[in-house]
Parts: sequence; C-alpha cells; structure tokens
Amino acid sequence: MDDNNGCILALAGGVGGAKLVAGLAGALENQPDAPSLKVVVNTGDDFEHLGLHIAPDLDSVTYALADLNDIERGWGMRGETWQFMQALERLGGETWFSLGDQDLATHVERTRLLNGGETLSQATAHLTRALDIGVDVAPMSDTPVRTIVHTDVGALAFQHYFVREQCRPAVSHFEFVGAEAASPSPLLDETLSRTDLRAVIICPSNPFISIDPMLAMPGVKARLASARAPILAVSPIIGADAVKGPAAKMLSELGYEVSAAGIYAHYDGLLDGFVVDRVDERLVTQMAPAPLRAVKTLMKSAADRTRLAQTVLDWCDELRC
Ligand code: GDP
Ligand code: CA
Repeated sequence: MDDNNGCILALAGGVGGAKLVAGLAGALENQPDAPSLKVVVNTGDDFEHLGLHIAPDLDSVTYALADLNDIERGWGMRGETWQFMQALERLGGETWFSLGDQDLATHVERTRLLNGGETLSQATAHLTRALDIGVDVAPMSDTPVRTIVHTDVGALAFQHYFVREQCRPAVSHFEFVGAEAASPSPLLDETLSRTDLRAVIICPSNPFISIDPMLAMPGVKARLASARAPILAVSPIIGADAVKGPAAKMLSELGYEVSAAGIYAHYDGLLDGFVVDRVDERLVTQMAPAPLRAVKTLMKSAADRTRLAQTVLDWCDELRC
C-alpha cells in the first residue's frame, strides 16, 4: 500500500470492527495502486485495571491484523493460556476481567510505554510495528474518553456494564466522559484533512458504544459530513439480532427499530451507503431512496472478510465517480 494513492479511513470498535478491518487490509494488499488504510479505533472502553492501561478495542483490531486473534472464542489471542488469572485467583485478587498470559504482555508493554511518556498513539504504533502490521492503526484520541452507561440500576463504568453485569441492565443513555475536551489523535486529524481521502468506512461495530465515542469529539462529525469522500457503513445487525454483543438489546431499549434500519436511523443522515445483510434484502426497497445494498455480511472466514471488504471498496469507488 502506497500513501501516494490516497487513503481510506476505517472507523472500528473491537471484534466486529476488527473483522472488516482485517478484510480491508487483505483486499487492499492484493490490489495494484491500492490506497493506504488508516484504522482509527474506539478508546471509550479503555480502563485502568491492576495498574495497567487496557485498551480492548485497539487490541482486538491489532490481534486481528496480526492474525493472532482467536476466532473460535471471538476475542483475545489464539493459543492463549490463563496461568496469570489462576495465580491471581489463588491470591484473592480481582478476577472479573479475564487477562490471558499473552494478552497481559500487551498491557504491560503498553503501560510501560505510556509511563515512559509516549502518547497512546505512539505506544500503539510501537506495538503494531512490533507485530509487523503494515497499516496505520491509532486510537481515536490520545486523551482519555470514558464511556459511562446509564441504566435502570444507575450509571456504570463501561467494563462494569459489559463484563461484570454482562449487559443485563436496561440502557437509557450513554455518556462519553472527556469527549468534549478530547481532540482527535494525529492519525484521525490528519486523515480527515487529507484531500486524497477516498472513503470513510464505518465498520460493523456497535454504533452506540464503539462509533459514537468518536463522533462525540468536537468537530469529528462535522468534518466527516463535509468531507468529499463517501461514508459507507456495514450493519452490525443481521435480521433482528446482533452477531454478538448488546447492539440489538440497546436498539430496543433506546426505542429504535431492532433491525439494520435502526442502525441506519441512528447514523442520522451521515451515510452515503449502507451495507446490510442479504437476509435484510427487503430493506433495500422498503427504505429507498436510502442508499442500501444487501450482500452477505456474516464474516466467518478470511475469505468472507475479504469479499465483504472488496464489495465495500468497490461501492466506494462507484460513489466517487
Ligand atoms: P466490540 O467492541 O468487541 O463489541 O466490537 P465492535 O463494536 O467492533 O463490534 C460489535 C458488533 O459487531 C456487534 O454488534 C456484532 O453484531 C457485530 N459483528 C460481529 N461479527 C460480525 C459479522 O461477521 N458481520 C456483521 N455484519 N457484524 C458483525
Ligand atoms: Ca469494545
């Protein structure tokens, strides 16, 4: 990938985002004169735990791009072992958040780099370079933004809602603490300013907790909306369900239609193209003139990921003409 052929910006959360990002990297790798891929990742889920800076979404994207991710389990690293967790449990330590032995090394190294004065962008570049990842990956911001989930049992820090409470409380709204004062990371800022930005791809991530934290930073939504590049999203909802996670439950609790149509409505005019699953083909006519296309969006294999990515890239090219 050559930076002289323009660039594509992908906005991603964790696991759903990581799958399409890996597909985009794969599709672009095989293309002559391919634009470069810039991947900007949600950090609203980041937290301090056991003295370490944990960045779950950055790690999901990084492990997928390095082909180290565990596809069966759906998160974390392949071939992971859990001796650290077992030893911690024996000591009566905090074990509600699972940290695999290999994964732990990422958090220890990231925390060391941050304590040494690097920004989260620099630490991320360090880690992705060490894993031979050929595309630029960066956090959405170098300043902390922390997602708070407001629920029927009160306000919960994101990981308490997600991991400890397993998304059971009903959601009323989200708060992205620090977003108003946060500025986009250098990669996000530079990419949004590039005149050769060819497309923005919003991955099939949870819009409420993976994409909205980015859009909540001052200027980001307006800069996206005024960019000449088309903005395409892939629906994380197939039929009436999320492939994984609380996106469908959130749509329902927040009063949206529980389908890809609810996701499109939430993006509120931002999208130039919206890719839904072929099981939702009826939406293409029902929602016309909204720009929808239906293809297979379930990514079970590397071939699925690359095929979906190529479809999205082809549509971006059409929209730019
Ligand atoms: P998280 O931060 O790890 O929860 O990951 P994301 O926010 O990036 O992605 C979560 C969303 O990905 C969920 O709403 C899933 O429904 C969606 N998702 C996961 N795998 C797939 C897939 O293969 N295809 C599609 N279309 N969506 C997916
Ligand atoms: Ca996440």
